[in-house]
Amino acid sequence: MRAHRLTLPVLVAAASLLSAPVATATAAPDVEWVEAFSPDGTITQVPVPPALEAPEKRSGAGEVAGEVAAEVVPIQETGAPGDRFDLVFVGDGYAEGDLPAYRRDAESKWEELSAVEPFKTYKQYFNVWRVDVISPESGVDNDPSLGTARDTAMDMGFWCQGRDLATERLLCVDEAAARRYAALAPQADQVIALGNTSKYGGAGGGVATAAGGNESAGQIAVHELGHSIGGLADEYEYPYERYAGAEPWELNVTADASGGKWASYLGKESPDGGVVGFYEGARYYRYGLYRPTENSIMRTLGREFNLIGLDVMAEAFKARIPELGAERVAGPAVVQLGDRWPGSERSGS
Ligand SMILES: [Zn+2]
Repeated sequence: MRAHRLTLPVLVAAASLLSAPVATATAAPDVEWVEAFSPDGTITQVPVPPALEAPEKRSGAGEVAGEVAAEVVPIQETGAPGDRFDLVFVGDGYAEGDLPAYRRDAESKWEELSAVEPFKTYKQYFNVWRVDVISPESGVDNDPSLGTARDTAMDMGFWCQGRDLATERLLCVDEAAARRYAALAPQADQVIALGNTSKYGGAGGGVATAAGGNESAGQIAVHELGHSIGGLADEYEYPYERYAGAEPWELNVTADASGGKWASYLGKESPDGGVVGFYEGARYYRYGLYRPTENSIMRTLGREFNLIGLDVMAEAFKARIPELGAERVAGPAVVQLGDRWPGSERSGS
């Protein structure tokens, strides 16, 4: 993925932040922290050993380093990539005969995520690309059970390709391969790798994954766009206890519960329910960091974004999209706004 001002390395930063203390504490070799999702909406970080340098089972057409070929089809193209947010779907485990299913899966995932605010409001400012990656075999590894191997273009597999035997739903992908295919599109601000399976699963990151044929898995992409478009922090508290660091840069978490970061929002009703305040437990810490609402989608899948997340993303869209820039509000991003989203009226008391 190329660097863009809206492509904020939240998860990269989180991963390095997380891996250092854990690796030290356990004297374990490097682990890679992967964001994992449960069917009930719970989000956690899971440590997995790094992927092997060169998966042996890689074979077939086109997936050697740098040399990939696939047809790129716009699901919707609304403007020049530099003036839009570009979402790129790549599919794994879809053989030639599965391409009609892949088209349906990619389109239904886009429909699902573009039905959620703020993407609903800004839908017409996305370019959405579908890269028709053809795999030698249908399906993904370890599906329906551990040990099932399939020869696919991006080596997707449950139990994180067998790297995490504790987390079946963790659907990992060869990220380098996924990025090579995504790079065939004119631009990739967020890559979503869909696996040809209906079993619930996915993983977070610059390349988010989701089970293409599972209806609930589209929520994973919604959450990941909160990171990639808004630079929003995770609002869940696993795995650490007390935070003692500096004030985080992300606008939806704070170490200072006395006001400050979102003072103008306090008491406002938020679309995810309840009112904006300071709720302890956020950005991987149980204590010492606060989130704006009890339970937004940055904490639990299936929820709405909270008011602050919505406004931060609205500002990000304005910064990227020239047509919107004309109406740009001067001053800090997260003040003055906040009255345009459903359910965001100021509460009576
Ligand atoms: Zn996340």
